[in-house]
Amino acid sequence: MNAEIICVGTELLLGDVVNTNAVHIAKGLAAAGINVYYQSVVGDNPQRLKDSIRLAFKRSDLIVMTGGLGPTYDDLTKETVAEYFGRKMKLHQPSLDHLNEVFNKFYSGQYKKMTENNVKQAYMPRGAVVFDNKNGTAPGLAVTDGNKTAVLMPGPPREMVPMFDNQVLPYLSRDSKKVLVSKNIYIFGMGESAVEDMLHDYMLSMDNPTIAPYARTGEMYLRVTASADNKGQAEEMLSPVVDKIQNLIGDYIYGIDVGNLETAVVRKLKEKNLMVGTAESCTGGWVSKQITGVEGSSEVFGCGVCAYANETKIKVLGVKKETLAQFGAVSFETAREMAAGIRKISGADIGISVTGIAGPGGGTEQKPVGLVYIGIDSKSLTETLELTLSRGYQNERDHIRYTATLRALHSILRAANAF
Ligand code: ATP
Repeated sequence: MNAEIICVGTELLLGDVVNTNAVHIAKGLAAAGINVYYQSVVGDNPQRLKDSIRLAFKRSDLIVMTGGLGPTYDDLTKETVAEYFGRKMKLHQPSLDHLNEVFNKFYSGQYKKMTENNVKQAYMPRGAVVFDNKNGTAPGLAVTDGNKTAVLMPGPPREMVPMFDNQVLPYLSRDSKKVLVSKNIYIFGMGESAVEDMLHDYMLSMDNPTIAPYARTGEMYLRVTASADNKGQAEEMLSPVVDKIQNLIGDYIYGIDVGNLETAVVRKLKEKNLMVGTAESCTGGWVSKQITGVEGSSEVFGCGVCAYANETKIKVLGVKKETLAQFGAVSFETAREMAAGIRKISGADIGISVTGIAGPGGGTEQKPVGLVYIGIDSKSLTETLELTLSRGYQNERDHIRYTATLRALHSILRAANAF
């Protein structure tokens, strides 16, 4: 089946909102083995919306759309699709009941009674399959005629994502005899091209399972996907491929199906019953933000100090005045003392520190923008890394801070592994 994605909304066209829906849908369709050949964005304009639907159906069997399902006059997606398929609109009673329930439960006073335009959300093209919306008011729907199907979902990602994952994908895969199962192998410290180079012949030699590389800022992952008659069989096919990749580049793999470095860090610390404390200059708390973004991180995260002023480094972290005077705040020695200091004051098993020059100003010949030191202090591993994270481009401040954050997280993982 060939598909395309159309996201509706003037705010998307103007760049006010990032089109995260398209990313999520594209990934989901690809994982389900549905080819996506086009993506487009169209404003809330009836004629242009009509034109894009017509064009999309000329070249694709399936259109997955988001946005424009709300109650207001400019929410037109459903009506336009109904018109394309020549279907009349009909009240869908369960959707109306749901709307009434939402208004009753979550609104008070005069707002308890929904306005007339809200009822529009409960009208569906005849013959549509309706996807209920547990996280909002506008239901989703699918309309099919012959081999052409349009799937419509609400715009807000917190409504669209669960609807797509739990209802739309199973609906689209209902006739498929095959199941697709993937394993994501997360890699740090080895670039996409180096990984591809190493696995190139192996990747080309396979068509089931397939191996696809995906680059992310500062890291990458490989997705290995098997198509089989059932889940067990697919998993059996995946296992030797994952083993082989592990044999080839195992030192760089930080997790399988783990999602990201911070989750791998929190899991490993939990598994080993360890605590971490962070002392950050340069990254401004980014390392602690990443760790504490993971559910259950309070079991492994003691405290974080965001120490920019020398005073703070001395008073709170116990960095020696002489160290700062002799070597400077961005130095091997300061990073080491910051890591030891945070470990001591937090009572954590692992202390991690970051100090560096994120730029664009502040660099010198000896200490250029992008110079970052990461200190690790623990019983298992005590070392300080000197990194050069600038690529010589403009506006790198965030890139330097983010890649420093990743290196710090990876260092925590290494220290935890060494326990
Ligand atoms: P509502 O019931 O809220 O009116 P809707 O289906 O009409 O839902 P829109 O009005 O098009 O959806 O979008 C509502 C909000 O959802 C947008 O302002 C935007 O914040 C977010 N949104 C819409 N489309 C996308 C998208 N493609 N990617 C990310 N966010 C989106």
